[in-house]
Amino acid sequence: MNLILLGPPGSGKGTQAKKIVERYHIPQISTGDILRAAVKEQTPLGKEAKAYMDQGKLVPDEVVIGIVRDRLKAADCKNGFILDGFPRTVPQAEALAATLQTMNRTIDYVVSIDVNNEELLKRLTGRRTCRGCGAMYHLIFDPPRKEGVCDRCGGELYQRDDDKEETIKERLRVYDAQTAPLIAYYRDKGSLRTIDGVGAMEQIFQAIVKVVEG
Ligand code: AMP
Repeated sequence: MNLILLGPPGSGKGTQAKKIVERYHIPQISTGDILRAAVKEQTPLGKEAKAYMDQGKLVPDEVVIGIVRDRLKAADCKNGFILDGFPRTVPQAEALAATLQTMNRTIDYVVSIDVNNEELLKRLTGRRTCRGCGAMYHLIFDPPRKEGVCDRCGGELYQRDDDKEETIKERLRVYDAQTAPLIAYYRDKGSLRTIDGVGAMEQIFQAIVKVVEG
């Protein structure tokens, strides 16, 4: 099963992707996670990507296309994969289609998770991350027991640069301008399924299962 999860930042794509991994045993390919790991390790890729990410802008197409092309060749993608955060532009979608064609594969479903902008802002500005272990919290939905301190490791909680309000607004603007057109792109191809992303995590997951299993 080859799946794309489409949705704005804060729509819960990453969380749902992890649940899909558990149920269907196919890997999650998150370009955001791959890029953040590269930034942390200060690799040449990370150094190139950081400035874009900190400003809420997209990393250039050719960079992310190269990452995904390599990743799709790995053995663990043989029975399928979930793309989370890729493609984000029409040229990325076209490059993906061309790559899959050379591998004799296609995308089965594109699941678009729909969440309104007001809800997205609330979710994203409340996000906090542990400096020590990377655990994620939310000031409203999932607060730590002690303010500013990680429950798991006692590390300091901080707000990721790209979770600051100004950057979030830019990320949402970039989504509307560059990524939302993919909804029409995949609708035209007949592979788009839209689900409501506001509600309980499990309920949203069941909506995805229904798309995939019919
Ligand atoms: P995410 O965790 O998916 O929200 O990604 C975090 C940041 O990584 C984005 O704001 C972009 O700067 C960058 N990024 C992730 N995926 C892509 C992509 N497919 N194309 C361009 N930039 C990306």
